[in-house]
Amino acid sequence: MDEGFCIIEFFDGPHGPLSDYVHVEANAAYANHAGIPNVVGKKVREMVGAEADGWIELYGEVLRSGVPIRFERELVATGRYLALAAFRIEPASRKQVAVLFQDITQRKRAELALQQLNETLESRVREAVAERNVLADVVDGTDARIHVIDPQYRWLAFNVMAITECEQLFGVQPRVGQSVLDALDHLPDTREHVRRLWDRALGGEEFIEVTDFQTSGAPSRFYEIRYRTLRGTDGQVIGAYMFAYDISDRLREQERLKQAEEALRQAQKMEAVGQLTGGIAHDFNNLLTGINGSLELLRARLSQGRFDGIDRYAAAAQDASRRAASLTHRLLAFSRRQTLDPKPVDVNRLVAGMEELIRRSVGPHITVEVVTAIGLWSTFIDAPQLESALLNLCVNARDAMPLGGRITIETANKWIDEREARVRDLSPGQYLSLCVTDTGTGMTPEVMSRAFDPFFTTKPLGQGTGLGLSMVYGFVRQSGGQVRIYSELEQGTTLCLYLPRHYQAAEEPQVLDAESPGACAPAVCRVMIVDDEPTIRMLVSEVLEERGYAVIEAVDGASALRILEGDKPVDLLVTDVGLPGGMNGRQLADAARRLRPELKVLFITGYAENAVIGNGHLEPGMWIMTKPFAMEAFASRIYEMLERN
Ligand code: ADP
Ligand code: MG
Repeated sequence: MDEGFCIIEFFDGPHGPLSDYVHVEANAAYANHAGIPNVVGKKVREMVGAEADGWIELYGEVLRSGVPIRFERELVATGRYLALAAFRIEPASRKQVAVLFQDITQRKRAELALQQLNETLESRVREAVAERNVLADVVDGTDARIHVIDPQYRWLAFNVMAITECEQLFGVQPRVGQSVLDALDHLPDTREHVRRLWDRALGGEEFIEVTDFQTSGAPSRFYEIRYRTLRGTDGQVIGAYMFAYDISDRLREQERLKQAEEALRQAQKMEAVGQLTGGIAHDFNNLLTGINGSLELLRARLSQGRFDGIDRYAAAAQDASRRAASLTHRLLAFSRRQTLDPKPVDVNRLVAGMEELIRRSVGPHITVEVVTAIGLWSTFIDAPQLESALLNLCVNARDAMPLGGRITIETANKWIDEREARVRDLSPGQYLSLCVTDTGTGMTPEVMSRAFDPFFTTKPLGQGTGLGLSMVYGFVRQSGGQVRIYSELEQGTTLCLYLPRHYQAAEEPQVLDAESPGACAPAVCRVMIVDDEPTIRMLVSEVLEERGYAVIEAVDGASALRILEGDKPVDLLVTDVGLPGGMNGRQLADAARRLRPELKVLFITGYAENAVIGNGHLEPGMWIMTKPFAMEAFASRIYEMLERN
């Protein structure tokens, strides 16, 4: 049930200034909770009589002081107990106070009854033992389950709800004088659990426990149980009691809300993806047209035996496919599921290597300054991605300084302690920071809060994609780091990447083992390629055969394994990660390694399969390459794997 809600407005009544108030607004739930219908327009003095003074005083104080209150109070006029919260509506000159409230009569009655019971218990204990339903008259109206026990865990009393529940949950009929623990003998775990809780209450502890009990066949029910110690008039512990509320529905409601929220978020994401795919499909078609057209012309020329200018077509096709590759890359970065290839990286060196490119990208009207920390720690990260993130930040900085300015790129070691970690949403520990500061326009708080959203851009159509920072964010978060913006309007902006420290130095010497049994020369090296895409198999085979390797092809894991089970020598397994037929590339590699422990493996993967292949933490002798790749790069990777290792 919704909470009751109303707005009251004070006025100067016959008893002096601000001595009465009138209801100016109320919701439908008001009547349900308070038990008084149609209150709008009514003055409190007309509604509740003498009781009005107390309410006026309470709310009047809220109006005077502006301090909100929260309290429980009986509305004598209707005999209901209410839990209330009230706050002043600003500005105070409106003389209005908002009140939210809930009917808690049931709970209050049970508590009062128990309090009474507690007070008179000593005299009633004997009575209770004789009279089974001592609580019936006072607390059977409530939906709380109430049990009272003595220090030997023997029931002193319980209410009707408690009887029903005990039967349903445990198959037990409580009897006054019987031990609760004995009654639960057939359920040893529950018995222990219950005993521990009662022990705390008997030991003088008053506490609230949330726990669930499973009835056979039915879904679990959740209870909020309040345990209280029972003391005689001399203060001695003479027992304990508890009252349990079934909160399953409340929890389920919360769960439902959470799910609804999640669904909403998902829907928003889908909408974003929808926008994205629309645009991308368009771009892709253009690029494919470029590729196809070039190839068509190339073919026509070849069939005519004309070789002049064919380079141009080849170059055009290559250029278009490079752009297509960078497009898919952006998509994957955006989905935060790109396949990263992290390595220990010296960020200082990476920055130094980028300096020239950055200078050229930002133009001569902007000064670029690089300040690198001495003794900078190493981090474990995908270097090309970090380069592109850095470039993205610098390009943003450039865009923020149309009239020129200065970009400072800075690295540093950072100890993030508990407090800072909370502020930055990171786990505490050692990080290195890579910050890019500009002297540009800065961001408004509104822009700052949305800067990481995909497609958020303040730039004119055609100039901003709104994907730069969302990619940087996705990549850094996926790498265990964090991105923070510090910005002041008209002053400038600093964007900092915090990257987790890695305890292995970047210049980890290549483990070269010339005698490794896998080493072979092209003429005798055998490479098995497993991919369900015939074009890729064809291209890969051609490139490798051209370089003198022997190639064995397979379309899926099962057929590859059949070959590996035989005695044909294979020096290297190149496999796609996503394969048809129920066995993925990773599983194939594992099975192959069981047959041939020395076998080298190169995964080639197009997307989203990070987790499958161990998030970049590969076993020795296993490598990974992301599709699409240039055939040249592929060939030299193979060469490295076979001949250098
Ligand atoms: P885009 O650059 O395509 O607009 P980004 O995701 O890179 O997309 O950036 C999103 C928005 O954040 C920008 O449009 C801009 O408003 C703001 N922004 C990013 N970097 C800076 C900066 N260095 N200074 C001021 N505003 C910035
Ligand atoms: Mg950008």
